[in-house]
Amino acid sequence: MSTRIPATLIAGDGIGPEIMDATLTALDALEAPFDWDVHVAGLAGVHAAGDPLPPDTLDSIRRTRLALKGPLETPSGGGYRSSNVRLREAFKLYANMRPTKTMVPGGRFDDIDLLVFRENVEGLYMGYEHYIPINDDPHAVAIATGVNTRQGALNILNYTFQTAIALGRKKVTVVHKANIMKALTGIFLETAYQLHGEKYAGQIDLDNVIVDACCMKLVINPWQFDTLVTTNLFGDILSDLAAGLVGGLGMAPGANIGHDAAIFEAVHGSAPDIAGKGLANPIALMLAAALMLDHVKLHDKATRLRRAISATLNADKVRTGDLGGKANTKTFTAAIVTRIQNG
Ligand code: NAD
Repeated sequence: MSTRIPATLIAGDGIGPEIMDATLTALDALEAPFDWDVHVAGLAGVHAAGDPLPPDTLDSIRRTRLALKGPLETPSGGGYRSSNVRLREAFKLYANMRPTKTMVPGGRFDDIDLLVFRENVEGLYMGYEHYIPINDDPHAVAIATGVNTRQGALNILNYTFQTAIALGRKKVTVVHKANIMKALTGIFLETAYQLHGEKYAGQIDLDNVIVDACCMKLVINPWQFDTLVTTNLFGDILSDLAAGLVGGLGMAPGANIGHDAAIFEAVHGSAPDIAGKGLANPIALMLAAALMLDHVKLHDKATRLRRAISATLNADKVRTGDLGGKANTKTFTAAIVTRIQNG
């Protein structure tokens, strides 16, 4: 009998419960050995405990150090901070990894296989912002301070090099704006070359590109890139651009990795426009679950899940409405389970 793995489960808001149900059904079919500790956050957290990130939820992740999470809504009134940003801070989730791979051929770009790593806790995202009033204009000057540290760069860069090498990747490209933001993004570029020279040269190649040129190159010829790593704000933008190359956010999973925990999620939000209708595409969350299986070294189950998704989409032609198909969440999930059982 395999060892059980305690993990926190947050279904999330909107379509969250529907796609989480589908994902758990697939994980059950794989006999994935997770012992789920079920908690709430986001809007559900506000309704249940008056807090979008209730202490019980935080305690659970502190204990399990592993979570699968649906999309969370941050209520606009009430001065709540984003639960997602709070989770990154609480568990020092310094690395956000988004694999971007073509699953449905025939789109604008075929055979995309990109890995995007984003520094997740530093940079301009830290939100050190203020206004300076002049005369009667309280917002006459706006100032934002970005903070990047050597240690923060080392954390994400070590994780990137190690993961890319383990996955058999050939090249890491550092994306930066060190020609203009010489200190803020220069420290990231400089640290990448130092670290590569000391620890990873000979195992994987390293090059670099300025962020604006990178956007243009990604759209003209995305196949020239293999693995991208960058600072927080650039990573936020580039990882969405990369998701767009393979058909949008509905297929994009994300892993948030830190010293204290790892949290896996779909990149998309709670899709309030289709919530409760049973129409949502659960693939992004299922792919996030595959990343979670890889994280706990159940690579065989992760591969079976990815193969089942690909076979359901491409051989069986079963697809949800967002992909032009007629399946709903339940019929799509049933097709996945059949593939898992027969695959
Ligand atoms: P969204 O990703 O929820 O929806 C954008 C569009 O994509 C909608 O038309 C939606 O129907 C569609 N869509 C998204 N996921 C889908 C799926 N799995 N299947 C089929 N269609 C899908 O973005 P939004 O509307 O900007 O955000 C809604 C809420 O989600 C907001 O409160 C936002 O803050 C939150 N959000 C949370 C996360 C997270 O928790 N990681 C990420 C993004 C947005």
